Amino acid sequence: MAFEGLSEKLSAAFKKLRGKGRLSEADVKEAMREIRLALLEADVSYKVVKQFVAQVTEKAVGADVLEALSPAQQIIKIVNQELTELMGGASAKLTIASKPPTVVMMVGLQGAGKTTNGAKLAGLMKRQNGKRPLLAACDIYRPAAIKQLEVVGEQLGIPVFQMGQTDPVHIAKAAVEHAIKHGNDMVFLDTAGRLHVDEALMDELCKIKAAVSPTEILLVVDAMIGQDAVNAAKAFDDALDIDGVVLTKLDGDARGGAALSIRAVTGKPIKFVGMGEKLDQIEVFHPDRMASRILGMGDVLSLIEKAEQNFDQKKALELQEKLRKNKFTLSDLYDQMVQLKGMGSLSDIAGMLPGVKASDLEGAALDGKALQRMEAIITSMTPYERENPSILNSSRKKRIAAGSGTQVVDVNRLLKQFEMLQAMTKQFSGGKMPRSLRKMMG
Ligand code: GDP
Repeated sequence: MAFEGLSEKLSAAFKKLRGKGRLSEADVKEAMREIRLALLEADVSYKVVKQFVAQVTEKAVGADVLEALSPAQQIIKIVNQELTELMGGASAKLTIASKPPTVVMMVGLQGAGKTTNGAKLAGLMKRQNGKRPLLAACDIYRPAAIKQLEVVGEQLGIPVFQMGQTDPVHIAKAAVEHAIKHGNDMVFLDTAGRLHVDEALMDELCKIKAAVSPTEILLVVDAMIGQDAVNAAKAFDDALDIDGVVLTKLDGDARGGAALSIRAVTGKPIKFVGMGEKLDQIEVFHPDRMASRILGMGDVLSLIEKAEQNFDQKKALELQEKLRKNKFTLSDLYDQMVQLKGMGSLSDIAGMLPGVKASDLEGAALDGKALQRMEAIITSMTPYERENPSILNSSRKKRIAAGSGTQVVDVNRLLKQFEMLQAMTKQFSGGKMPRSLRKMMG
C-alpha cells in the first residue's frame, strides 16, 4: 500500500509530542521539521511542502486551546485538515452532460493506465449508475491498443467502437455519433500516449478536444513515478485544461508524493484512484479519507462501503448487530471470511484499518484453501475456546493443529487475523478513539 513510509514518519513525529501538557515553540518547531522531512521523503514537491508546513505552523500557533484535546492531538487534527485541503477538500465528481452522451476523454502518458482505467471507470458507471457506456479506440499507434480495449470491453460487457488505424479525430467524432445512434449515454475515448510529453501528441489531443468538446478530460497518471507524474500533469493541463486526474497504481508502494502534490500544482482534483490491475479496482478519491489513512487513523468509511458492496444484506445486518454489541467471535470470523473473499486480499483490507500496516498481512490472500484451513481450525476448537480465544495456550494450540491437520503457525496466523477484525469491531462499536491515535498519545 502506498504512503506507508510517510505514515510511519508522521506517526513518529507525533509520538514525540505525546504526554506533553504544553508545547513549547521548540517542540512545535521540531515536529514541523520532521513533518517537512517526512513529506519531502514521500516525494511531495518542495514548494508544496514549504507552503504546507507554513500553514500548519500558523494554525498550530494561532489555534485556540481546546480543553478536549491535548496539544499534540490538536496538531494531528490540524495536519489532518491540511492534508485533506491539500488533496482538494471535498471529493470531486465526474460531470455528467445534461444532454447525453457524456464524453470522457482519457489522456496520459503511455503505460499510465489509460486503457485499463478508462474501462474500469466505464464499468463503475455501468455498475453503480446504470449507465450504458461505449469505449472508443482512438489510440491507433500502439498496435495492441485496440485489441486490449476490446478484451477489457468484453470482460465488462461494454461495447467497443473502433475503426482500425485511421485518423483519431475522425474516430472520436464517429464514436460520439455511434453512441447517439445506439443509445449509449457515455463515451470513453481511449487516446494515444507517448513515453514523454511531446508536441505532436498534444496537438492531436487538442484536435480531438476541439472536434468533440468532451464533457470531461481526465488525465491518467501513474502514482509510482512521483514528481514526474506531477510534471506530466502540469504539461497536460497547460495544453488541454484538464478537468481532473485518475491516479493509478496506488496499490503499489508509491511514496505518495503525486497524490499530495497534483492538486496544489495544477489546481485540478484527483477524481478517481486505481487500486489494482483488476477491472473493478477503481475508487472515487476522497481526500478526507486518504488523509486519515495517511495519519494511521484508518479508512473505515471506505471499508464499510466495500463491505456493503460485497456482503449479503441479511448477514451484513447480523454482523452490524454483533459489532455493535462487541460480540464478534471466531465462528463469526469464519462466516465473514467467506464473504470477505469478494473484498480482495486481507492486506488490502488491512490498509484501511486504523493502526494496521498492510505488510503485517502481506500475502494473506483469502483463497479457497486458506478458508478450508480456517474452517478446520475453528471447528477443531471447543465452543468455549471459540468464544474466548485468549485462553489458547501452546498445548491447546497443538491439540487444535493436530485436530485440524494444520500446524501451530496456522493456528497463530488465524488468531492474528481475528485480532485484526476485532480492531475493526472496536471501530464499529462506536465513539472510541482509534487505537493508533491512542497509542500515539500515550
Ligand atoms: P496505457 O498505456 O496508459 O493505456 O496503460 P494500460 O492501461 O495499458 O496500463 C499499463 C499497465 O498498468 C497494465 O499492465 C495495467 O494492468 C497496469 N495498471 C493500470 N492501472 C493499475 C492500477 O491501478 N494498479 C496496478 N497495480 N496496475 C495498474
